[in-house]
Amino acid sequence: MKNLVVIGGGFAGFWSAMSAVRQARFLRKDSALKIMMISLDEYLSIRPRFYENKFKDMRVPLKKYLDPLGIVLHVAKVERIDHKKRNIFMVRSNGQEEVLSFDGLILAAGSQLNRPPLPGFEHAFNVDTFRESVQLEDHLKELSASRFLSASSRTFVVVGASFTGLEVITGLPERLRSFDLPDIHYDFILTDRSFSIAPEYSSEGRGIISRQIGKEGIQFFAGEEVDSISPEHIRFKSGKCIETRTIIWCGGLKANPLTSMFPIDRDCQGRLKVDQFLRIDGQKTIFAAGDVAQACVDDEGHTSVMSCQHAIPQGKFAGNNAVNALFDCDLIPYSQPRYVTCLDLGSEQALLTSGWGRFPKMTGISAKELKIEIMSKWIIPEKDVEETVKMSVPVILHNEG
Ligand SMILES: Cc1cc2nc3c(=O)[nH]c(=O)nc-3n(C[C@H](O)[C@H](O)[C@H](O)COP(=O)(O)OP(=O)(O)OC[C@H]3O[C@@H](n4cnc5c(N)ncnc54)[C@H](O)[C@@H]3O)c2cc1C
Repeated sequence: MKNLVVIGGGFAGFWSAMSAVRQARFLRKDSALKIMMISLDEYLSIRPRFYENKFKDMRVPLKKYLDPLGIVLHVAKVERIDHKKRNIFMVRSNGQEEVLSFDGLILAAGSQLNRPPLPGFEHAFNVDTFRESVQLEDHLKELSASRFLSASSRTFVVVGASFTGLEVITGLPERLRSFDLPDIHYDFILTDRSFSIAPEYSSEGRGIISRQIGKEGIQFFAGEEVDSISPEHIRFKSGKCIETRTIIWCGGLKANPLTSMFPIDRDCQGRLKVDQFLRIDGQKTIFAAGDVAQACVDDEGHTSVMSCQHAIPQGKFAGNNAVNALFDCDLIPYSQPRYVTCLDLGSEQALLTSGWGRFPKMTGISAKELKIEIMSKWIIPEKDVEETVKMSVPVILHNEG
């Protein structure tokens, strides 16, 4: 019996496990393989939707899928990986330490919010995890209970004018409307140390985003580096200070620190550089997928981006390849030349781009409908477990031009 361990129950880990089951069945090795998953909790968290009003429904119970497929879920935190001795050291929530040995491993432990060592950073909110999204929601409810009485409680500052920050700030007006206090005027401020909004977008894309920001009455403070945060204000290195009770930090993601367990090159986001089969360099049966992996996606030198778009297919390839590696079958090279983004820009507005230059392909209500479809269908597993297993076949998607 061989042990395959998947660390992480997010998009990459979930699809790794589904794909491993499917491929083991295909090779008729299912009775010779034990698949285990270790994750911090019992849910596949739909993180991209944690900024929404109804984020509390955005967790898929893992056991619904894992139990019928015979995959054992260990709810625990992995503290250390000894890749030479093939041991994983984990701690359960009751403090109990355990060691799990493996023949094959898929590291899919995802990413975490960048938390700079700023004075008062703990007073900033974020939407990185379910727990922290609940904290933000509780805070908004508390402000609404006192009808957003002070000017600082009516002022909302989002730090970070890239993808997540834009979705958070453009989603806030709708979120606040749900409190049904129509007479209250709010101030929305987006800040970034960069001088440009969404610098990763083409100039056409940035134009659309800036216009929408303006339409929603959101002010953009460019070139502002945060100096300190308190429960009542945010101060910038320029000397500017904004009185606010709500600062939401969207300052980017970095790979899970478990990536440091492997003595190989990591990129500036802390991701492990993987080979074309998603193997961690030099390891025959150890793979990385999702936000922990920097994988080459095409022949032009583009590398994966921390996104569901890359985490889901990488999971499918990693699960497939891990099983093949354990049973001495050929591995399938991962590639994903097609690259699109769909940015939520608030009520009835979104921006679909295509290609690495992020050129606009669609805006307005049709882009918004597509965004809703992606977030409510494409990235959510099928309700039926066996249908989900079928969907785990690794497929290479090409650009449609
Ligand atoms: C607010 C926000 C908005 C986003 N919007 C989008 C979007 O619109 N489109 C898009 O494509 N992407 C978006 N993303 C990015 C996307 O959510 C991530 O790229 C995706 O979740 C990565 O999947 P993953 O499986 O690699 O990691 P994760 O989803 O982070 O899952 C990691 C898993 O590892 C587990 N884990 C972590 N540490 C340990 C440990 N020590 N021991 C055991 N288990 C551990 C966790 O419990 C979790 O199950 C957004 C992210 C955020 C935070």
